[in-house]
Amino acid sequence: MVWGGEKIAPFKGVETTQDHIGESWELSAYPTKESVVANGPLAGRNIADLVREYKGALIGEKVYANTGDEFPLLIKFIDAKSDLSIQVHPDDAMAEKHHPGQKGKTEMWYVVDADPGAHLYSGLKESITPEEYEARIANDTITEVLADFQVKPGDVFFLPAGRIHAICGGCFIAEIQQTSDLTYRIYDYGRLGLDGKPRQLHTELAKEAIDYKVYPDYKTVYEPRKDEEVEVVSCQYFTTSVLNLDKPFTKDLSGLDSFLVVMCTSGSGTVSLASEAPTPEGKVSGKLTLPGTSPSGCTDPAHPGCPGSDSTDPAHAVPIRQGETVLIPACATAVTFTPDVMPGKTGHPLTLVTSCIK
Ligand SMILES: [Zn+2]
Repeated sequence: MVWGGEKIAPFKGVETTQDHIGESWELSAYPTKESVVANGPLAGRNIADLVREYKGALIGEKVYANTGDEFPLLIKFIDAKSDLSIQVHPDDAMAEKHHPGQKGKTEMWYVVDADPGAHLYSGLKESITPEEYEARIANDTITEVLADFQVKPGDVFFLPAGRIHAICGGCFIAEIQQTSDLTYRIYDYGRLGLDGKPRQLHTELAKEAIDYKVYPDYKTVYEPRKDEEVEVVSCQYFTTSVLNLDKPFTKDLSGLDSFLVVMCTSGSGTVSLASEAPTPEGKVSGKLTLPGTSPSGCTDPAHPGCPGSDSTDPAHAVPIRQGETVLIPACATAVTFTPDVMPGKTGHPLTLVTSCIK
């Protein structure tokens, strides 16, 4: 990508010959870009396929009733070496109107790393009219009315559909968003694309999509706490928490009725499901892997063909390290995260960003 950097591969510990990698789609059911199971009994299957088969047992009954066979979240790492274009996303209603069958895009950012001086834009700092917006695109002054934030690791921004924004150079971000690829490019700083031509702008659609109001809370204020789950965003599309662990932490999932996506942004450790949870477990790292998880086999009649039932893997635990993502199915009843680094030892604590739908 025009703006992609070189941080994603070393962050994830993968070898690649590609350069300028802007995004890594960690967990995606977006058509043609589905995460694929790399090994285990479900090797070769993709996430969209698994949702069609396991339905509520995988994503939650309530979630499945709302979104059906479409896995509702798209999870990415984004490495911005230079500034992304100023953009906006439509909401569900506008997406349906202009792109039938597609969803809008509400998203959030967790800043994993930031170079000195790294910044981003989120929202308007003064309210403008749609006419002023057009004039400011034409005379290159749109950034003057955007709220501009210097960022540091751990910063969180929630971006409902309609909020004008841009990730700028030096930001390394974990993004949680609706499964959608609808972006209206507003302003590209007069740059040329890889083909030497200006990239297309979507000025008219953006004019309709933008929320022109000013809000006081573009940046999420939260108190990071050790060894506790700290909820940072909760909206109809996702509920996201941050965990900073230097000792084991168990999360009760019995009342959740949702999948849980676990992104590891620093350190390493183990993710284990409660032994009474006879469930499939997905580990996603660019490619999805689904190690067998149940020591005793799944006997729940609600889950016919559950991969737990033909599991021969006695260990219902998977390692996780920085840059990896684990998908925990809705039918799990509890999960324990165990950091490799314990108190008194040196190394990075285990930092996890978890997302579910409440
Ligand atoms: Zn965006």
